[in-house]
Amino acid sequence: MNSNYEIVVGLEVHAELSTKTKIFCGCKNEFGAEVNTNVCPVCMGLPGTLPVLNEQVVEYAIKMGHALNCHINSVTKQDRKNYFYPDLPKSYQISQFDIPLCENGYLDVLVGDEVKRIGVTRIHIEEDAGKLIHDADLGGTLADYNRCGVPLIEIVSEPDIRSADEAKAYLDTIHTTLLYLGISDAKMQEGSVRCDVNVSVRPKGSTEFGTRVEMKNVNSFSAAHRAITYEANRQIDVLSHGGKVEQETRKWDDVKGRSVVLRSKEDAQDYRYFPDPDLLTFVVPQEKIDRLKARLPELPVAKTMRYMSRYGLSKADSELLALDKNVAEFFEKCVGSGKCSAKNVSNWILGDVFKILNERRCSINDLALTAENLSEMISLIEKKTISNAAGKTVFEVIVDADKDPNEIVKEKGLAQVSDTGALAAIVEKVLANNEKAVNDYKSGKTNVIGFLVGQCMKESRGQGNPSILKEMVVAAIDNK
Ligand code: ADP
Ligand code: MG
Ligand code: ZN
Repeated sequence: MNSNYEIVVGLEVHAELSTKTKIFCGCKNEFGAEVNTNVCPVCMGLPGTLPVLNEQVVEYAIKMGHALNCHINSVTKQDRKNYFYPDLPKSYQISQFDIPLCENGYLDVLVGDEVKRIGVTRIHIEEDAGKLIHDADLGGTLADYNRCGVPLIEIVSEPDIRSADEAKAYLDTIHTTLLYLGISDAKMQEGSVRCDVNVSVRPKGSTEFGTRVEMKNVNSFSAAHRAITYEANRQIDVLSHGGKVEQETRKWDDVKGRSVVLRSKEDAQDYRYFPDPDLLTFVVPQEKIDRLKARLPELPVAKTMRYMSRYGLSKADSELLALDKNVAEFFEKCVGSGKCSAKNVSNWILGDVFKILNERRCSINDLALTAENLSEMISLIEKKTISNAAGKTVFEVIVDADKDPNEIVKEKGLAQVSDTGALAAIVEKVLANNEKAVNDYKSGKTNVIGFLVGQCMKESRGQGNPSILKEMVVAAIDNK
């Protein structure tokens, strides 16, 4: 990257809302149904049909508006955006033009160790279009209208983003926020979240924006990162060779790792927006807007920062814990038990629990593991009732059965032995069997102590108290 230039990025994110039915008709809103089965005259745009707005869509969009600190317009309307494309049977998309439901917000995201505030211009509601299926065998294209009328929110950012990393952090935060609010299943691979990437560059220090290029077909957040890096470099190359960046829409090809021109950029006036005469103005009572705000959960970035400051966890660990709402709840329940330290809970969740979740590709709520049992088990380790190794044995049981860790310790005889009388024989045996290590220790290589204590632990089948064993080993050698 040429350091004489600064990157400027603005993002438009489309998210499908997980309502039961579509935005203007009673058709089911579901992914993966048999083609053209979730359709009716309204979402197929047949003449004479009338759309009726789904109230749930408005509520979900307002929730997102609150989460992104927007002003909510209680009086708003819907507009027709006119264009022709075979996936759009009405030849217009019902969207919002000059009065979006939410506007003038911002989102704080964590980039490295810094909080970066990115302005949110607007969030509006609109309907999705159908899907075209290009069929090579048939030598043609088929249209599936199931997706027509699936509710979307479009979240438009200000051009406040200054790097591919910031863009990625913004997108990740939008993604977790959608999941926290429970308003979208946010599955990238099913296309329920999509983004358009606007990129320009300008000489460092310049206060004017350069000409922007909009990139479509960016199918994942990591692709967005690659697309921004590629496009910024392309523009810098053009400018530094005395050329001019054209305002255009390009298509990102993630396989080839480059963008190609799709069309020169269209302007809003090309769409001939006008208020939809079938829908017109709608009013959301202020009381309802306020109620939705009061019910907002603590959001991922706020959670991450709280975990860092309150529990002294690292940013990386805090972020991982806050990423999934269910994991965060589980973590907080464990810590809330007051039985064990937040740091140990975090280590167990991010280590052993995550390993199981990855292996089984499941969610933490799918496990029989309870916060009570995990925190009890950790507290047994902290109190030195059991060793860390014995903790793993207990963990293997409580992952799949709601069983009191104290019972397991009793049944399996896992309690740690701290009684020096009981450990003396073990120490004696280990020292006798490891003469060389003992001599090494005597000659000043004191780090062999770890090895000797390890042998004692092994001999005690993990039940010896390692710190007591260490003291005993040192004393025994010194007395020899
Ligand atoms: P359109 O509907 O034509 O895509 P919008 O006005 O909705 O246009 O803006 C689209 C996005 O472009 C916004 O996210 C905005 O932040 C971004 N943007 C505007 N100007 C620039 C620029 N010079 N460089 C990068 N992004 C920009
Ligand atoms: Mg756009
Ligand atoms: Zn329908």
